[in-house]
Amino acid sequence: MIEFAHVFKSYSSEHPVLQDVTFRVGPGEFVFVAGPSGAGKSTLLKLVAGLEPPSKGRIEVNGQRLDQLTPRATPYLRRAVGVILQDTHLLYDRSAIDNVMLPLAVAGHPHATAASRARAALQKVGLSEKERANPLALSGGEQQRLAIARAIVNRPALLIADEPTANLDRETARKVMTVFKDFNQVGVTTLVATHDEDLMAEFAHRVLVIEPGRLRDFPVRRAS
Ligand code: ATP
Ligand code: MG
Repeated sequence: MIEFAHVFKSYSSEHPVLQDVTFRVGPGEFVFVAGPSGAGKSTLLKLVAGLEPPSKGRIEVNGQRLDQLTPRATPYLRRAVGVILQDTHLLYDRSAIDNVMLPLAVAGHPHATAASRARAALQKVGLSEKERANPLALSGGEQQRLAIARAIVNRPALLIADEPTANLDRETARKVMTVFKDFNQVGVTTLVATHDEDLMAEFAHRVLVIEPGRLRDFPVRRAS
């Protein structure tokens, strides 16, 4: 599903953020990306999402070479990968359901189809009652779940989330993580960046740890 081979990434000419990173994530895996602030977690996720090009190396996601990405391939990748960035980028002048319908509208789906699929996505994250609400009227955990609904409305094979539980209390963080776990259980490959050791201990099956510029792979298993 995801394959990195000797990937380097630098933003400036000085020192690379990621150095010679090689790993594989198989279909259906649930994997955390951990490491200290500034280590390169968000950078790694952006490379997987095709939002940043690597400086060097080979990246393959869902059978597609990203380091040779052509503009034509980008919409294909957008449909195959659901992305939730550190800033959720919700639109605060639209209702919850309009936010979820947006990717479908962009893809040219008729309004009625988009609305019914958006409702199904809102139901999956437990926000059916809030479809008319403005995102600003939602709690932090609800906003995260709304961002998840928007990311899964295209039925992606791969879901990527950058610190989706930052700023949430423990109970809400567990609920949000359970939403990811539920999607993973129906076959969606899931990659989540987090600092939260407790959540990783509770939910992780595997943790990729980025030590500044490097990547270590922890196989973490838990009976659950
Ligand atoms: P955090 O836990 O704080 O979110 P992170 O592990 O996600 O950190 P990144 O956001 O990937 O870290 O940043 C890694 C390094 O790359 C940092 O030193 C950061 O300043 C730098 N960096 C990230 N994005 C850019 C950019 N667009 N331009 C220049 N430098 C960048
Ligand atoms: Mg980050």
